[in-house]
Amino acid sequence: MTLQYNSGVVVENGCTMYLQRELWLKKHSQEKLPPWPCPRACGGTLQAQKKSFASESTHESLQHRDNERWELDWDRGVIVGLLLCSRCMEAVAIGGDQTQAYEFDWDQVTNQPSPYFEQFIRPVWFHPPLPFFPVPDDVPEEVRTPLMEAFATAWVSPSSAAARIRAALETLMDANKVQRKKRKTNGTYYELKLHPRLEIFGEKHPKIQEHLLAAKWLGNVGAHESDLSDDVLLDAFEFVSIVLHHLYDDRVKRADDRVRVVNKSKGKK
Ligand SMILES: [Zn+2]
Repeated sequence: MTLQYNSGVVVENGCTMYLQRELWLKKHSQEKLPPWPCPRACGGTLQAQKKSFASESTHESLQHRDNERWELDWDRGVIVGLLLCSRCMEAVAIGGDQTQAYEFDWDQVTNQPSPYFEQFIRPVWFHPPLPFFPVPDDVPEEVRTPLMEAFATAWVSPSSAAARIRAALETLMDANKVQRKKRKTNGTYYELKLHPRLEIFGEKHPKIQEHLLAAKWLGNVGAHESDLSDDVLLDAFEFVSIVLHHLYDDRVKRADDRVRVVNKSKGKK
């Protein structure tokens, strides 16, 4: 396993530990699909099997063809295809919406813009689902499950995905045995909500306290609003990735230990 450093982010087998925003929740050129990571987290990336892709225009799109002003870039379709992992050959199916547009290159000879036609995919599902960031091996199953559900639903419903992130934070507190109840002065107990549980946990992990609370706020928004933006969901995934790597990634934990030693000795050996 080769580790290298790239802009301060640890890179393992070509995949960064944290979320690479440019890969997710966008339309992509059908000819240049991005290097989505293998769902088996083998370190490989997914390669489009171009011959497997098939698309058809939507019913609404076909009706527009009767319009005398119809142009090719009005067309909308649905598309399916297969991707294969470059390393372990895992197969992944992709489905989504297809659009097309005229794009422009600059023609160096004529010094004029040169139009070309490009088709785009907006993914709606992957099967099996793709992890938006590498989940450390030691993350408990009860945290991993709602997180994988968030990854699977992110493409169609960012709000639902954010709500599953909130559920993952609840189970993260359970897995770390953060108290669920607090004693009142009269001796009875009341249930603690997620926010105070995160604060209690954050006191022991000050480096990630802010990330935990920020992920929870975004999860709350997702639970109450149906039109959470893609960017906000990616923020929530990014905060959770930092939390999980801090808690469960051995490399980060070892680096934290070294930081403590250096700070204590003020850099002296
Ligand atoms: Zn693979």
